Amino acid sequence: MELIPSFQVDHTKIVPGIFESRLDVIGKEYVTTFDIRMKKPNTEPAIHINAMHTIEHIVATFIRNDKEWRDRIIYWGPMGCLTGCYLIVKGHPTGKDILPLMIRAFEFCANYDGEVPGANPVNCGNYILHDLNMALYEAKLYAEILKSNPCFEYPTEKRTETEKGQIFYDS
Ligand SMILES: [Zn+2]
Repeated sequence: MELIPSFQVDHTKIVPGIFESRLDVIGKEYVTTFDIRMKKPNTEPAIHINAMHTIEHIVATFIRNDKEWRDRIIYWGPMGCLTGCYLIVKGHPTGKDILPLMIRAFEFCANYDGEVPGANPVNCGNYILHDLNMALYEAKLYAEILKSNPCFEYPTEKRTETEKGQIFYDS
C-alpha cells in the first residue's frame, strides 16, 4: 500500500505550531484539516494519554461553543502519536485564521477548574482515562507557544497544484 500523504511530511523537522495538513473538496465546499502540533515529534516527550484525553474533552467543549467558529467545526481529536490534535473545519481558513481560536481554547483549558466535561460513563468511552492536572500543564505550555512563536509552515517542499491553480501541501 502507498504511504498516505500525512506520513510524507518529514516528522523529524516538525516543530510545535498550526499546519494545514490537507485540503479536501466535497461537492462545492472546501474542508480543511489542521495539524495542531503541540510537541516536537520523537524529540521531547509526547503528551501522556490521560492528559491528551482530558485536553480532547475540554477543547472540544470550548470550540463547539465558540460563537465565531462553532458552526464550522467538523471534527476535533488527538493524534495517535500523542504529539498533537487534528482540527477539521468547513471552508479554507489559514493557520493564522485559526490561531486566535486555538489560543482561546488552550487558555480556557489551561485555566479550567471543575469537573472535566463529559468524563462520566454515560458520555465517554473510558471515563477514568483522564488527568486534569497534566492537561492544565500541557495546555499552558502550548498556549504560550501559540502566543509567542508558532510555526505555520510544514518542513516539506512537496506541494500539489490543482487544475484551478490552488496550491496546497501534499499531506
Ligand atoms: Zn472521552
